Amino acid sequence: MSDKRTEIGEIGEFGLIDHLSEKIIIKHNSTLRGIGDDAAVIEAGDHVKVVTTDLLLEGVHFDLSYAPLPHLGFKAVAVNVSDIAAMNAIPKQITVSIALSNRFSVEAVDALYSGINAAAEHYGVDVIGGDTTASRSGLVISITAIGDAKKEQLSFRSGAKVNDIVCVTGDLGGALVGLQILEREKQVYLANPEMTPELDGFQYVTGRQLRPEARMDIIHELREMEVVPTSMIDVSDGLASELFHICKASGVGVTIYEDKLPIDKQTFDTAVELNLDPITCVLNGGEDYELLFTIDQKDFSKLEKHPDIHFIGHVTKAEDGKLMVTKSGTVVSLKAQGWKHF
Ligand code: ADP
Ligand code: MG
Repeated sequence: MSDKRTEIGEIGEFGLIDHLSEKIIIKHNSTLRGIGDDAAVIEAGDHVKVVTTDLLLEGVHFDLSYAPLPHLGFKAVAVNVSDIAAMNAIPKQITVSIALSNRFSVEAVDALYSGINAAAEHYGVDVIGGDTTASRSGLVISITAIGDAKKEQLSFRSGAKVNDIVCVTGDLGGALVGLQILEREKQVYLANPEMTPELDGFQYVTGRQLRPEARMDIIHELREMEVVPTSMIDVSDGLASELFHICKASGVGVTIYEDKLPIDKQTFDTAVELNLDPITCVLNGGEDYELLFTIDQKDFSKLEKHPDIHFIGHVTKAEDGKLMVTKSGTVVSLKAQGWKHF
């Protein structure tokens, strides 16, 4: 170790992961894919296993003053299932590790697990193990999910080709707007505990934040329609950031159209009420857990009429850059702000 000190903020979360991965050498032929996608891929007979892990920390990823424990348990599973979905695989097993401070009772852990078990039931996964330990400050949840696919069914971040169509499911920006509402009501409550939080009319956006769904329904439908996305990623850090990941991994550019971006009416209205630009919420909000994927043009007719898949743009050559055509027809460069953890 030299005396040099580099702040993590200087290279960022993704820069740090790139930096660490440079020193990692893959030893086994069965490790088909290591760091760099939504999940790692391991050869297993005529199938492959995909593995992903996520860590949720109290005070960083959730606030128990407004996140009910059952919702938190559900979300912790859903965010991992979402990464399995992003590989076009089917989740089968999870492990659940928790660290608890003495603030938590058995009843509180039961409440957390009611959500974990509900999600396990909902996504058809078995809870096969984990770890339990004490924590000095607050709750930590780490879940690992294992999924299954045939090799040819997998979608990587790296497969997008020029002229592919860019698709996104559901609607975007809701989870960020929901978080802003929850934070606002928390501040109101802290200032005056007599006030009850005003969450009427914000159910959709707060639900998007507190209890997101992984889009396994879309994965099953893509199989039925015999469409394998040429590339895929889940939208955990914001659409723009995820587009950047696909472009970098695939060596391509992208053009998207502002008027094609899906936003729910409540998300739009609430963003305006909060003085936020709705399109910025769509592009840079996090935690929507929708799927962003590209398809070959030949598959367009199979998905064209799907009510919950939106065609937002197309893949271009890398040198054409990452662009958005605004509603007024101006072309702007996309910026990937995403979530800054550091
Ligand atoms: P996602 O948002 O899909 O969960 P991340 O951005 O967290 O993906 O991670 C990107 C890639 O980096 C994944 O392949 C993940 O396994 C890997 N990764 C993240 N943190 C580390 C770490 N500390 N050591 C090794 N690999 C890591
Ligand atoms: Mg992901």
